[in-house]
Amino acid sequence: DRIISAQLMMDDAATELSLRPRYLNEIIGQTKAKENLKIYIEAAKQRKEALDHVLLYGPPGLGKTTLSNIIANELGVNIRTTSGPAIERPGDLAAILTNLQAGDVLFVDEIHRLNRSVEEVLYPAMEDFALDIMIGKGPSARSVRLDLPPFTLVGATTRAGLLSAPLRDRFGVVSRLEFYSVEELAYIVNRAADILQVRIVGEASYEIGRRSRGTPRIANRLLKRVRDFAQVVGDGVITEEIARRALEQIQVDPLGLDHIDRKLMEAIMTLFQGGPVGLDTVAATIGEESQTIEDVYEPYLMQIGFLQRTPRGRVATRLAYRHFGIEPPEPK
Ligand code: ADP
Repeated sequence: DRIISAQLMMDDAATELSLRPRYLNEIIGQTKAKENLKIYIEAAKQRKEALDHVLLYGPPGLGKTTLSNIIANELGVNIRTTSGPAIERPGDLAAILTNLQAGDVLFVDEIHRLNRSVEEVLYPAMEDFALDIMIGKGPSARSVRLDLPPFTLVGATTRAGLLSAPLRDRFGVVSRLEFYSVEELAYIVNRAADILQVRIVGEASYEIGRRSRGTPRIANRLLKRVRDFAQVVGDGVITEEIARRALEQIQVDPLGLDHIDRKLMEAIMTLFQGGPVGLDTVAATIGEESQTIEDVYEPYLMQIGFLQRTPRGRVATRLAYRHFGIEPPEPK
């Protein structure tokens, strides 16, 4: 029941296909990524070549999977979807690669979680569209090179910094996805309401947009929860009043922060006097995983200026104290 969770939930799956934009011009926001991709895709199509490999990075729910599907759609090719942890052995990757057709898109989500031996198969595949296979064992072993069809690797990761340098260097296009503005999110909410055939008044879509922490996936989730509320408590129309009451009920505050954000910030502000405090220490204190905090919670808290990452650890800002109504410690 966690609205902010990074993982896809059952509830997302039901509407995932209908809500997902299918072409570049249906994508709201992400202007820079979108405009660059548009040109690269057009150029690749004109040359009748595979598009250069693309790395998409940014926090969960901003549209990496959506964009990779759009890239394949716009190119008019098939997409094969997998993820870093799903490719366990070099042979698994070889099987996928040899099954691609010329120009296809191979989407690898969580690409930073590929293991080393698999990555090494990927280098010549990305660079020369070739697969090096070892035949035989011991002194008579030799390497044979197999040609692969030209393809486009689209890799997605929450943090580009976790990628090994040789892998990162092999992407010709690197795009960072940004958090969406409230206006963009309100637009996304309206579009989703249209598809789900729910009536929503303009101010309500802004209210949902404001509380979606810059993330379309969360906007869609909140819309669905508010819809339930409107159906049971109201007459099915999402008014501003209904939206606000529903969002309060599910404990998402006016900035989109939930109880984990609050717990995290309160721990830093009160238990650790505002920091600096190490990530692992705070994580252990509030009983969450460091990785989840770093990937899911911190990016937004930093975006709104509540949290800073310093070499000595995490620091809470004055703005955060004010929002949570906590007295900041005396300056040292
Ligand atoms: P990621 O792969 O980055 O975690 P997804 O591509 O799965 O994110 O996006 C999550 C959901 O958000 C999608 O199902 C889609 O409905 C919605 N979404 C993402 N980007 C947009 C956008 N620009 N416009 C409208 N909806 C979007």
